[in-house]
Amino acid sequence: MQPQIIPASQYNGIWHGNEKNTITSINPTTQKPLGEFALCDPSHCEKMIEQAKKNQQLWRNIPAPKRGELIRIIGEKFRSHKESLAQLITLEVGKITQEALGEVQEVIDMAEFAVGQSRMLYGKTMVSERPDHRLYEQWHPYGVCGIITAFNFPMAVWAWNAFLALITGNTIIWKPSLKTPLCAITIQKMCQDAIQEAGFPNVISLLTASDALCEQLVNHKDIDIISFTGSCSVGQKVGTMVQSRFGQCILELGGNNAIIVDEDANLDLAIPAIVFGAAGTSGQRCTTTRRVFLPKTQFESISKKLIQAYQQIRVGLPDDPSTLMGPLIDKQAVTHFNQTIGRIKQQGGKILCGGKPHAMKLNFVQPTLIAASNDMPILQEENFAPICYLIPYTDLKQVICEHNNVPQGLSSAIFTNSLQNAEYFLSANGSDCGIANVNIGTSGAEIGGAFGGEKQTGGGREAGSDAWQSYMRRQTTTINWGNALPLAQGIDFNVQKKQSKTSNTSDTPKNPRSHRKNHKQPPKTESK
Ligand code: NAD
Repeated sequence: MQPQIIPASQYNGIWHGNEKNTITSINPTTQKPLGEFALCDPSHCEKMIEQAKKNQQLWRNIPAPKRGELIRIIGEKFRSHKESLAQLITLEVGKITQEALGEVQEVIDMAEFAVGQSRMLYGKTMVSERPDHRLYEQWHPYGVCGIITAFNFPMAVWAWNAFLALITGNTIIWKPSLKTPLCAITIQKMCQDAIQEAGFPNVISLLTASDALCEQLVNHKDIDIISFTGSCSVGQKVGTMVQSRFGQCILELGGNNAIIVDEDANLDLAIPAIVFGAAGTSGQRCTTTRRVFLPKTQFESISKKLIQAYQQIRVGLPDDPSTLMGPLIDKQAVTHFNQTIGRIKQQGGKILCGGKPHAMKLNFVQPTLIAASNDMPILQEENFAPICYLIPYTDLKQVICEHNNVPQGLSSAIFTNSLQNAEYFLSANGSDCGIANVNIGTSGAEIGGAFGGEKQTGGGREAGSDAWQSYMRRQTTTINWGNALPLAQGIDFNVQKKQSKTSNTSDTPKNPRSHRKNHKQPPKTESK
């Protein structure tokens, strides 16, 4: 079947450009094209930003709980189309059905969370040090929010950002990964329908843009905040560009996540957590378990158990319910997998299982376990593939330092039955990551908590807790409802006046004439 060109004007409803410039979405399972999609050009991008800015002025005046109503409608659409949306993710990203359903559920959960949050954009009231004064803070939207997302969560990451950005009064322009345009235009169509149903101005735009055009968005003075999800290298570039124009930026970048297995760990919990964390989503999650530290005394026995578990992982078609691991996203990812295996061998890593393309060929590879030592330079990198390093250790405190000694800081976990070791791992001397778990793997987080990581992971926080504040500017307000104008810190500009008045009063001679005498009179000048 010839892929059909879908004109951008059909799914955006904002601009009508020519469709000369297109991208093709490829099914990772078959390597066959799914469709061809029009890309925006710089003038589309400019018009979109102009419209988003104009409509934000209307949107910010709609009360937040009413803005939440739009998210409720969008969430309902996701709920009623959950299965078909999951199929779309499977088709375009190759996620197995269970994980794809989980991703759509995450969007639904996030919508419900955001609807509730739209009634809870709280500001603190502080006690003023001045009498008859009220001191409080309130939150206002930034304006237009540019959302740039990675391929591996083509719906959920958009939802984390879009729903919070919208309830907090921003309009949004979404630049999805060019590997997942089909998911993006489907979401955009559902949002456009919801906007029309609710009778709101168009507050949601989709920019299917080349990376170069994406920089136009990043550099644009009217994009008040950029939320970027992707690799550390692109994130660093984007963060620097936004910072150089004093824009706001949320960065959700790569991870290099590790699990520490303590000597007394419950292996019935640890083994499946490692397998799911390392091989789930074919190792293409930002929270994928990439490094596993095992006690040296148990290295052989636990490795053996893991190899056995790995041999049970069924690699296959992602829509087959018995499949546990689907394909990688594209041919480049397979090349990268092969190159990584080559470099691991060069650096002295020993392949315990996997390490090769899978017999199914195309984008399928084997889930791989490597016996590694912590000084191998490749352990410092995020390999976005199902490759997991097993590293022996002897001392828990020392291994926590080794765990932290990588550039990234997203997710971490310890498996232990020791309260002391668990608490040490969670203390300020412990994990330096944004997420630190006990007896739960590194991969997969609930939306209720703030999600994000430290160091080269970028420092951003999204989804739950108080992450909504990242999309708003804080304003501190003081109201004086009294009749005086006292200054903070007890500063009193009248003190000098008062003092000089007091000194004048005490010095004032009874006889005003004598007082005048005490003062030096300017010399009289003769007028000519
Ligand atoms: P990527 O960095 O290649 O691309 C991410 C996005 O940036 C895409 O939309 C891409 O088109 C865009 N982009 C590329 N060049 C750009 C430029 N010069 N200016 C602006 N935008 C540009 O990442 P990817 O391969 O799509 O995704 C995998 C990476 O994303 C991994 O590193 C993974 O850990 C990370 N990730 C992080 C999180 C998180 O929440 N921390 C979540 C998902 C993925």
